[in-house]
Amino acid sequence: MKQLYESLGISKEVYEYGEGILEALKERFAAIDETAEYNQLKVIAAMQKAHVSAECFNASSGYGYDDIGRDTLEEVYAAAFHTEAALVRPQITCGTHALAIALAGNLRPGDELLSISGRPYDTLEEVIGIRPSCGSLAEYGVTYAQVDLLEDGSFDYEGIEKALRPQTRLIEIQRSKGYQIRPTLSVAQIGEAIAFIKERRPDVIVMVDNCYGEFVERLEPSDFDADMIVGSLIKNPGGGLAPIGGYIAGTKECVERAAYRLTCPGLGKEVGASLGVMRSFYQGFFLAPTVTAAALKGAIFAANVYERLGFKVVPNGSESRHDIIQAVEFGFPEGLTSFCEGIQAAAPVDSYVTPEPWAMPGYDSDVIMAAGAFIQGSSIELSADGPLKPPYAVYFQGGLTWPHAKLGILMSLQKLYEKGHVTLPVKQQ
Ligand SMILES: *Cc1c(COP(=O)(O)O)cnc(C)c1O
Repeated sequence: MKQLYESLGISKEVYEYGEGILEALKERFAAIDETAEYNQLKVIAAMQKAHVSAECFNASSGYGYDDIGRDTLEEVYAAAFHTEAALVRPQITCGTHALAIALAGNLRPGDELLSISGRPYDTLEEVIGIRPSCGSLAEYGVTYAQVDLLEDGSFDYEGIEKALRPQTRLIEIQRSKGYQIRPTLSVAQIGEAIAFIKERRPDVIVMVDNCYGEFVERLEPSDFDADMIVGSLIKNPGGGLAPIGGYIAGTKECVERAAYRLTCPGLGKEVGASLGVMRSFYQGFFLAPTVTAAALKGAIFAANVYERLGFKVVPNGSESRHDIIQAVEFGFPEGLTSFCEGIQAAAPVDSYVTPEPWAMPGYDSDVIMAAGAFIQGSSIELSADGPLKPPYAVYFQGGLTWPHAKLGILMSLQKLYEKGHVTLPVKQQ
Protein backbone atom coordinates (compact mmCIF):
# COMPACT_ATOMS: atom_id res chain seq x y z
CA MET A 1 0.00 0.00 0.00
CA LYS A 2 2.76 2.39 1.01
CA GLN A 3 4.54 1.66 -2.26
CA LEU A 4 1.47 2.42 -4.31
CA TYR A 5 1.03 5.71 -2.45
CA GLU A 6 4.69 6.47 -3.12
CA SER A 7 4.25 5.80 -6.82
CA LEU A 8 1.43 8.38 -6.77
CA GLY A 9 3.73 10.92 -5.14
CA ILE A 10 2.93 10.52 -1.43
CA SER A 11 6.11 10.32 0.62
CA LYS A 12 6.58 7.87 3.46
CA GLU A 13 6.52 10.70 6.03
CA VAL A 14 3.20 12.10 4.83
CA TYR A 15 1.63 8.65 4.57
CA GLU A 16 2.68 7.69 8.08
CA TYR A 17 1.53 10.97 9.54
CA GLY A 18 -1.85 10.38 7.90
CA GLU A 19 -2.10 6.84 9.24
CA GLY A 20 -1.39 8.11 12.73
CA ILE A 21 -4.27 10.59 12.44
CA LEU A 22 -6.60 7.90 11.11
CA GLU A 23 -5.85 5.57 13.97
CA ALA A 24 -7.61 7.99 16.31
CA LEU A 25 -10.64 8.42 14.01
CA LYS A 26 -11.80 4.80 13.88
CA GLU A 27 -14.73 5.25 16.23
CA ARG A 28 -15.99 8.35 14.48
CA PHE A 29 -15.75 6.68 11.11
CA ALA A 30 -17.71 3.72 12.44
CA ALA A 31 -20.48 6.08 13.55
CA ILE A 32 -20.55 7.65 10.09
CA ASP A 33 -20.87 4.20 8.53
CA GLU A 34 -23.81 3.53 10.79
CA THR A 35 -25.55 6.72 9.69
CA ALA A 36 -24.92 5.71 6.07
CA GLU A 37 -26.41 2.29 6.78
CA TYR A 38 -29.51 3.89 8.29
CA ASN A 39 -29.92 6.25 5.35
CA GLN A 40 -29.24 3.51 2.82
CA LEU A 41 -32.11 1.49 4.26
CA LYS A 42 -34.31 4.59 4.17
CA VAL A 43 -33.59 5.08 0.45
CA ILE A 44 -34.08 1.40 -0.43
CA ALA A 45 -37.37 1.34 1.48
CA ALA A 46 -38.51 4.44 -0.43
CA MET A 47 -37.61 2.84 -3.77
CA GLN A 48 -39.48 -0.32 -2.89
CA LYS A 49 -42.52 1.60 -1.67
CA ALA A 50 -42.65 3.59 -4.92
CA HIS A 51 -42.33 0.40 -7.02
CA VAL A 52 -39.26 1.48 -8.93
CA SER A 53 -38.98 -0.70 -12.04
CA ALA A 54 -36.67 -0.96 -15.05
CA GLU A 55 -39.28 0.96 -17.04
CA CYS A 56 -38.57 4.01 -14.86
CA PHE A 57 -35.17 4.41 -16.53
CA ASN A 58 -36.59 4.97 -20.01
CA ALA A 59 -36.32 8.37 -21.66
CA SER A 60 -39.30 10.53 -22.52
CA SER A 61 -39.25 13.44 -24.93
CA GLY A 62 -41.43 16.33 -25.98
CA TYR A 63 -43.99 17.31 -23.35
CA GLY A 64 -43.13 14.32 -21.23
CA TYR A 65 -46.78 13.58 -20.34
CA ASP A 66 -47.18 10.61 -18.02
CA ASP A 67 -43.44 10.10 -17.66
CA ILE A 68 -43.51 7.21 -15.20
CA GLY A 69 -39.77 7.49 -14.44
CA ARG A 70 -40.04 11.15 -13.48
CA ASP A 71 -43.24 10.72 -11.45
CA THR A 72 -41.93 7.65 -9.61
CA LEU A 73 -38.64 9.36 -8.78
CA GLU A 74 -40.58 12.19 -7.20
CA GLU A 75 -42.46 9.61 -5.12
CA VAL A 76 -39.10 8.15 -4.04
CA TYR A 77 -37.80 11.52 -2.83
CA ALA A 78 -41.08 12.21 -1.03
CA ALA A 79 -40.97 8.80 0.66
CA ALA A 80 -37.31 9.08 1.68
CA PHE A 81 -37.70 12.60 3.06
CA HIS A 82 -41.13 11.88 4.56
CA THR A 83 -42.97 14.60 2.67
CA GLU A 84 -46.28 14.62 0.80
CA ALA A 85 -44.70 15.47 -2.54
CA ALA A 86 -41.51 16.34 -4.37
CA LEU A 87 -40.32 18.02 -7.52
CA VAL A 88 -37.07 16.47 -8.84
CA ARG A 89 -36.18 17.52 -12.35
CA PRO A 90 -33.34 17.96 -14.83
CA GLN A 91 -35.09 21.22 -15.79
CA ILE A 92 -34.02 22.59 -12.40
CA THR A 93 -30.57 23.78 -13.40
CA CYS A 94 -28.91 24.08 -9.97
CA GLY A 95 -29.52 24.61 -6.26
CA THR A 96 -30.03 28.34 -6.63
CA HIS A 97 -32.69 27.69 -9.27
CA ALA A 98 -34.50 25.21 -7.03
CA LEU A 99 -34.50 27.74 -4.18
CA ALA A 100 -35.63 30.50 -6.53
CA ILE A 101 -38.66 28.60 -7.78
CA ALA A 102 -39.57 27.47 -4.27
CA LEU A 103 -39.57 31.12 -3.20
CA ALA A 104 -41.15 32.68 -6.28
CA GLY A 105 -43.81 29.98 -6.47
CA ASN A 106 -44.89 30.46 -2.88
CA LEU A 107 -44.65 34.22 -2.41
CA ARG A 108 -47.04 36.86 -3.74
CA PRO A 109 -46.81 40.66 -4.00
CA GLY A 110 -47.03 42.22 -0.55
CA ASP A 111 -45.68 39.12 1.19
CA GLU A 112 -42.54 39.24 3.27
CA LEU A 113 -39.73 36.70 3.16
CA LEU A 114 -37.87 36.36 6.46
CA SER A 115 -34.48 34.70 6.81
CA ILE A 116 -33.78 33.62 10.40
CA SER A 117 -30.28 32.25 9.77
CA GLY A 118 -28.69 35.54 8.79
CA ARG A 119 -27.51 36.47 5.34
CA PRO A 120 -28.53 33.80 2.86
CA TYR A 121 -26.20 32.09 0.39
CA ASP A 122 -24.50 34.53 -1.99
CA THR A 123 -26.42 33.64 -5.12
CA LEU A 124 -29.75 34.14 -3.34
CA GLU A 125 -29.03 37.82 -2.78
CA GLU A 126 -29.94 38.54 -6.38
CA VAL A 127 -32.90 36.16 -6.33
CA ILE A 128 -34.33 38.02 -3.34
CA GLY A 129 -33.17 41.47 -4.41
CA ILE A 130 -30.85 42.14 -1.46
CA ARG A 131 -28.51 43.14 -4.28
CA PRO A 132 -30.69 44.85 -6.89
CA SER A 133 -31.14 42.51 -9.82
CA CYS A 134 -33.39 42.10 -12.84
CA GLY A 135 -36.41 39.93 -12.06
CA SER A 136 -35.75 39.66 -8.32
CA LEU A 137 -38.53 39.01 -5.79
CA ALA A 138 -38.14 42.66 -4.74
CA GLU A 139 -39.18 43.75 -8.24
CA TYR A 140 -42.38 41.75 -7.76
CA GLY A 141 -43.19 43.51 -4.49
CA VAL A 142 -41.94 40.84 -2.09
CA THR A 143 -40.15 42.42 0.87
CA TYR A 144 -37.28 40.87 2.76
CA ALA A 145 -36.32 40.84 6.43
CA GLN A 146 -33.50 39.09 8.24
CA VAL A 147 -32.70 37.97 11.75
CA ASP A 148 -29.04 37.18 12.31
CA LEU A 149 -27.88 34.17 14.30
CA LEU A 150 -26.52 34.90 17.76
CA GLU A 151 -22.79 35.13 18.43
CA ASP A 152 -22.63 31.39 19.22
CA GLY A 153 -24.41 30.48 16.00
CA SER A 154 -27.78 29.66 17.56
CA PHE A 155 -31.17 31.14 16.64
CA ASP A 156 -32.13 34.53 18.05
CA TYR A 157 -35.61 33.61 19.28
CA GLU A 158 -36.31 37.04 20.68
CA GLY A 159 -35.36 38.58 17.35
CA ILE A 160 -37.50 36.09 15.45
CA GLU A 161 -40.52 36.84 17.63
CA LYS A 162 -40.14 40.54 16.91
CA ALA A 163 -39.61 40.03 13.18
CA LEU A 164 -42.83 38.03 12.69
CA ARG A 165 -45.22 40.48 11.06
CA PRO A 166 -48.69 40.02 9.55
CA GLN A 167 -47.18 40.04 6.05
CA THR A 168 -44.53 37.42 6.93
CA ARG A 169 -45.37 34.59 4.56
CA LEU A 170 -42.28 32.45 4.23
CA ILE A 171 -39.33 31.80 6.53
CA GLU A 172 -36.01 30.66 5.13
CA ILE A 173 -33.49 28.67 7.16
CA GLN A 174 -30.10 27.81 5.66
CA ARG A 175 -28.78 24.60 7.18
CA SER A 176 -25.19 24.73 5.96
CA LYS A 177 -22.88 27.58 6.79
CA GLY A 178 -21.97 27.64 3.10
CA TYR A 179 -18.93 29.87 2.88
CA GLN A 180 -19.60 31.90 6.01
CA ILE A 181 -17.84 31.60 9.32
CA ARG A 182 -20.58 30.26 11.53
CA PRO A 183 -21.42 26.78 12.71
CA THR A 184 -23.71 24.73 10.50
CA LEU A 185 -27.12 24.23 12.05
CA SER A 186 -28.03 20.75 13.22
CA VAL A 187 -31.34 19.22 12.18
CA ALA A 188 -32.40 19.23 15.85
CA GLN A 189 -31.71 22.97 16.11
CA ILE A 190 -33.70 23.59 12.94
CA GLY A 191 -36.52 21.44 14.26
CA GLU A 192 -36.68 23.51 17.42
CA ALA A 193 -36.89 26.73 15.41
CA ILE A 194 -39.66 25.32 13.23
CA ALA A 195 -41.66 24.35 16.31
CA PHE A 196 -41.19 27.85 17.71
CA ILE A 197 -42.48 29.42 14.48
CA LYS A 198 -45.39 27.03 13.98
CA GLU A 199 -46.57 27.60 17.52
CA ARG A 200 -46.86 31.32 16.83
CA ARG A 201 -47.67 31.34 13.16
CA PRO A 202 -48.97 28.04 11.78
CA ASP A 203 -49.84 29.86 8.54
CA VAL A 204 -46.21 30.70 7.72
CA ILE A 205 -44.32 28.47 5.26
CA VAL A 206 -40.92 27.27 6.45
CA MET A 207 -38.39 26.50 3.74
CA VAL A 208 -34.99 24.97 4.53
CA ASP A 209 -32.04 25.42 2.17
CA ASN A 210 -30.79 21.85 2.64
CA CYS A 211 -27.72 22.11 0.36
CA TYR A 212 -24.74 20.01 1.55
CA GLY A 213 -26.77 18.63 4.46
CA GLU A 214 -28.64 15.66 2.97
CA PHE A 215 -27.83 12.30 4.58
CA VAL A 216 -25.24 13.75 6.97
CA GLU A 217 -27.65 12.95 9.80
CA ARG A 218 -30.38 10.34 10.13
CA LEU A 219 -33.17 12.88 10.04
CA GLU A 220 -33.80 15.75 7.66
CA PRO A 221 -35.52 19.07 8.43
CA SER A 222 -38.64 17.64 6.74
CA ASP A 223 -38.89 15.21 9.66
CA PHE A 224 -39.46 18.28 11.82
CA ASP A 225 -42.34 19.82 9.90
CA ALA A 226 -40.42 21.96 7.40
CA ASP A 227 -42.87 22.79 4.59
CA MET A 228 -40.12 22.55 1.98
CA ILE A 229 -36.55 21.29 1.87
CA VAL A 230 -34.57 22.31 -1.18
CA GLY A 231 -31.24 21.25 -2.66
CA SER A 232 -28.98 20.56 -5.62
CA LEU A 233 -28.42 17.21 -7.35
CA ILE A 234 -24.77 17.98 -8.06
CA LYS A 235 -24.29 17.90 -4.30
CA ASN A 236 -25.20 15.13 -1.82
CA PRO A 237 -28.48 13.64 -3.13
CA GLY A 238 -27.23 13.22 -6.70
CA GLY A 239 -24.64 10.79 -5.40
CA GLY A 240 -22.12 12.03 -7.99
CA LEU A 241 -24.10 10.49 -10.84
CA ALA A 242 -26.85 13.01 -11.52
CA PRO A 243 -25.47 15.25 -14.30
CA ILE A 244 -27.77 18.18 -13.44
CA GLY A 245 -30.83 18.93 -11.34
CA GLY A 246 -32.40 20.12 -8.16
CA TYR A 247 -35.18 19.03 -5.83
CA ILE A 248 -37.91 20.48 -3.67
CA ALA A 249 -39.60 18.11 -1.23
CA GLY A 250 -42.48 19.25 0.94
CA THR A 251 -46.20 19.67 1.29
CA LYS A 252 -48.32 18.99 -1.77
CA GLU A 253 -49.45 22.60 -1.90
CA CYS A 254 -45.96 24.13 -1.68
CA VAL A 255 -44.47 21.71 -4.20
CA GLU A 256 -47.30 22.30 -6.66
CA ARG A 257 -46.94 26.06 -6.41
CA ALA A 258 -43.22 25.71 -7.09
CA ALA A 259 -44.00 23.50 -10.11
CA TYR A 260 -46.27 26.21 -11.54
CA ARG A 261 -43.26 28.50 -11.43
CA LEU A 262 -40.81 25.95 -12.86
CA THR A 263 -43.01 25.25 -15.88
CA CYS A 264 -46.04 27.56 -15.96
CA PRO A 265 -49.45 28.16 -14.43
CA GLY A 266 -51.83 25.43 -15.49
CA LEU A 267 -49.15 22.93 -16.49
CA GLY A 268 -47.11 22.53 -13.31
CA LYS A 269 -45.77 19.00 -12.75
CA GLU A 270 -47.59 17.53 -15.75
CA VAL A 271 -44.91 18.48 -18.30
CA GLY A 272 -41.15 18.08 -18.38
CA ALA A 273 -39.50 15.30 -20.37
CA SER A 274 -36.77 13.37 -18.57
CA LEU A 275 -34.58 13.01 -21.69
CA GLY A 276 -32.77 9.90 -20.54
CA VAL A 277 -31.20 11.08 -17.28
CA MET A 278 -33.53 9.16 -14.98
CA ARG A 279 -31.29 6.18 -14.32
CA SER A 280 -28.50 8.44 -13.10
CA PHE A 281 -30.96 10.23 -10.80
CA TYR A 282 -32.17 6.96 -9.29
CA GLN A 283 -28.76 5.36 -9.05
CA GLY A 284 -27.23 8.56 -7.68
CA PHE A 285 -29.90 8.80 -4.98
CA PHE A 286 -29.28 5.14 -4.15
CA LEU A 287 -25.55 5.84 -3.71
CA ALA A 288 -26.00 9.19 -1.97
CA PRO A 289 -25.88 7.93 1.66
CA THR A 290 -22.49 6.22 1.23
CA VAL A 291 -21.10 8.96 -1.01
CA THR A 292 -22.04 11.53 1.63
CA ALA A 293 -20.34 9.35 4.24
CA ALA A 294 -17.15 9.29 2.15
CA ALA A 295 -17.17 13.07 1.85
CA LEU A 296 -17.80 13.41 5.56
CA LYS A 297 -14.85 11.19 6.43
CA GLY A 298 -12.67 13.28 4.13
CA ALA A 299 -13.74 16.48 5.87
CA ILE A 300 -13.03 15.04 9.33
CA PHE A 301 -9.67 13.59 8.23
CA ALA A 302 -8.60 16.95 6.79
CA ALA A 303 -9.69 18.81 9.92
CA ASN A 304 -7.53 16.53 12.06
CA VAL A 305 -4.56 16.47 9.68
CA TYR A 306 -4.33 20.26 9.61
CA GLU A 307 -5.45 21.00 13.17
CA ARG A 308 -2.60 18.89 14.49
CA LEU A 309 -0.18 20.94 12.41
CA GLY A 310 -1.40 24.09 14.13
CA PHE A 311 -3.82 25.51 11.57
CA LYS A 312 -7.27 26.81 12.42
CA VAL A 313 -9.89 24.48 11.00
CA VAL A 314 -13.67 25.05 10.85
CA PRO A 315 -15.33 22.88 12.04
CA ASN A 316 -12.59 21.75 14.40
CA GLY A 317 -11.25 18.20 14.50
CA SER A 318 -13.64 16.87 17.10
CA GLU A 319 -16.96 18.71 16.82
CA SER A 320 -20.07 17.04 15.44
CA ARG A 321 -20.86 17.49 11.75
CA HIS A 322 -23.99 18.73 10.04
CA ASP A 323 -22.68 19.30 6.51
CA ILE A 324 -19.73 18.20 4.35
CA ILE A 325 -17.83 21.50 4.08
CA GLN A 326 -14.40 21.92 5.69
CA ALA A 327 -12.42 25.14 5.97
CA VAL A 328 -8.70 25.36 6.75
CA GLU A 329 -7.11 28.74 7.43
CA PHE A 330 -3.50 28.85 6.29
CA GLY A 331 -2.71 32.49 6.99
CA PHE A 332 -0.35 32.67 3.99
CA PRO A 333 -1.16 32.49 0.25
CA GLU A 334 1.15 29.57 -0.60
CA GLY A 335 -0.70 27.39 1.92
CA LEU A 336 -3.95 27.89 0.04
CA THR A 337 -2.44 27.44 -3.42
CA SER A 338 -0.40 24.37 -2.42
CA PHE A 339 -3.49 22.76 -0.90
CA CYS A 340 -5.44 23.29 -4.12
CA GLU A 341 -2.56 21.96 -6.20
CA GLY A 342 -2.64 18.77 -4.15
CA ILE A 343 -6.39 18.27 -4.54
CA GLN A 344 -6.02 18.77 -8.30
CA ALA A 345 -3.06 16.41 -8.57
CA ALA A 346 -5.03 13.64 -6.83
CA ALA A 347 -8.05 13.87 -9.15
CA PRO A 348 -9.07 11.15 -11.60
CA VAL A 349 -9.75 13.84 -14.24
CA ASP A 350 -7.46 16.77 -15.17
CA SER A 351 -4.80 15.73 -12.65
CA TYR A 352 -2.02 17.05 -14.90
CA VAL A 353 -3.12 20.70 -14.80
CA THR A 354 -2.08 23.23 -12.17
CA PRO A 355 -4.79 25.47 -10.76
CA GLU A 356 -4.02 29.20 -11.02
CA PRO A 357 -5.66 32.04 -9.10
CA TRP A 358 -7.82 34.29 -11.32
CA ALA A 359 -10.10 37.31 -11.03
CA MET A 360 -13.52 35.69 -10.94
CA PRO A 361 -16.56 37.89 -11.58
CA GLY A 362 -18.26 38.87 -8.34
CA TYR A 363 -15.19 38.50 -6.11
CA ASP A 364 -13.00 41.32 -4.81
CA SER A 365 -9.80 39.25 -4.91
CA ASP A 366 -8.33 36.48 -7.04
CA VAL A 367 -9.82 33.05 -6.41
CA ILE A 368 -8.16 29.66 -6.79
CA MET A 369 -10.17 26.53 -7.52
CA ALA A 370 -9.26 22.88 -7.76
CA ALA A 371 -11.55 20.24 -9.21
CA GLY A 372 -11.04 17.26 -11.41
CA ALA A 373 -14.62 16.14 -11.65
CA PHE A 374 -16.70 13.90 -13.89
CA ILE A 375 -19.59 16.37 -13.66
CA GLN A 376 -18.60 20.00 -14.22
CA GLY A 377 -18.86 22.07 -11.06
CA SER A 378 -20.01 19.10 -9.01
CA SER A 379 -19.17 19.76 -5.38
CA ILE A 380 -20.01 16.30 -4.09
CA GLU A 381 -16.85 15.38 -5.98
CA LEU A 382 -13.58 16.32 -4.26
CA SER A 383 -13.07 20.03 -4.84
CA ALA A 384 -11.46 23.00 -3.12
CA ASP A 385 -11.40 26.74 -3.52
CA GLY A 386 -10.64 29.95 -1.70
CA PRO A 387 -10.08 33.67 -2.22
CA LEU A 388 -6.47 34.89 -2.28
CA LYS A 389 -6.84 37.21 0.69
CA PRO A 390 -6.38 36.89 4.45
CA PRO A 391 -6.94 34.60 6.26
CA TYR A 392 -6.12 32.52 3.14
CA ALA A 393 -8.72 29.92 3.96
CA VAL A 394 -9.45 26.99 1.72
CA TYR A 395 -12.98 25.60 1.59
CA PHE A 396 -13.18 22.08 0.47
CA GLN A 397 -15.79 19.38 0.19
CA GLY A 398 -16.75 16.18 -1.48
CA GLY A 399 -15.14 12.93 -2.45
CA LEU A 400 -17.19 10.22 -4.13
CA THR A 401 -15.20 7.56 -2.31
CA TRP A 402 -13.29 7.71 0.97
CA PRO A 403 -10.02 6.42 -0.59
CA HIS A 404 -10.10 9.28 -3.09
CA ALA A 405 -10.81 11.86 -0.40
CA LYS A 406 -7.93 10.42 1.62
CA LEU A 407 -5.54 10.57 -1.34
CA GLY A 408 -6.56 14.17 -2.07
CA ILE A 409 -5.88 15.31 1.48
CA LEU A 410 -2.58 13.44 1.67
CA MET A 411 -1.58 15.00 -1.65
CA SER A 412 -2.49 18.49 -0.37
CA LEU A 413 -0.25 17.88 2.62
CA GLN A 414 2.48 16.49 0.36
CA LYS A 415 2.54 19.76 -1.61
CA LEU A 416 2.81 21.83 1.57
CA TYR A 417 5.47 19.49 2.93
CA GLU A 418 7.58 19.51 -0.24
CA LYS A 419 7.61 23.29 -0.29
CA GLY A 420 8.66 23.42 3.33
CA HIS A 421 5.48 25.08 4.61
CA VAL A 422 4.92 22.42 7.28
CA THR A 423 7.04 20.18 9.43
CA LEU A 424 5.54 16.86 10.38
CA PRO A 425 5.57 15.77 14.00
CA VAL A 426 8.06 12.99 14.66
CA LYS A 427 6.27 9.66 14.94
CA GLN A 428 5.75 8.51 18.53
CA GLN A 429 6.81 4.96 19.11
C1 LIG B 1 -24.47 25.33 -3.17
C2 LIG B 1 -25.45 26.05 -2.35
C3 LIG B 1 -26.50 26.78 -2.92
C4 LIG B 1 -26.64 26.98 -4.40
O1 LIG B 1 -26.52 25.86 -5.18
P1 LIG B 1 -25.93 25.97 -6.66
O2 LIG B 1 -26.18 24.61 -7.19
O3 LIG B 1 -24.50 26.34 -6.56
O4 LIG B 1 -26.73 27.00 -7.38
C5 LIG B 1 -27.39 27.37 -2.06
N1 LIG B 1 -27.27 27.29 -0.73
C6 LIG B 1 -26.27 26.62 -0.15
C7 LIG B 1 -26.17 26.57 1.34
C8 LIG B 1 -25.33 25.98 -0.93
O5 LIG B 1 -24.33 25.30 -0.35
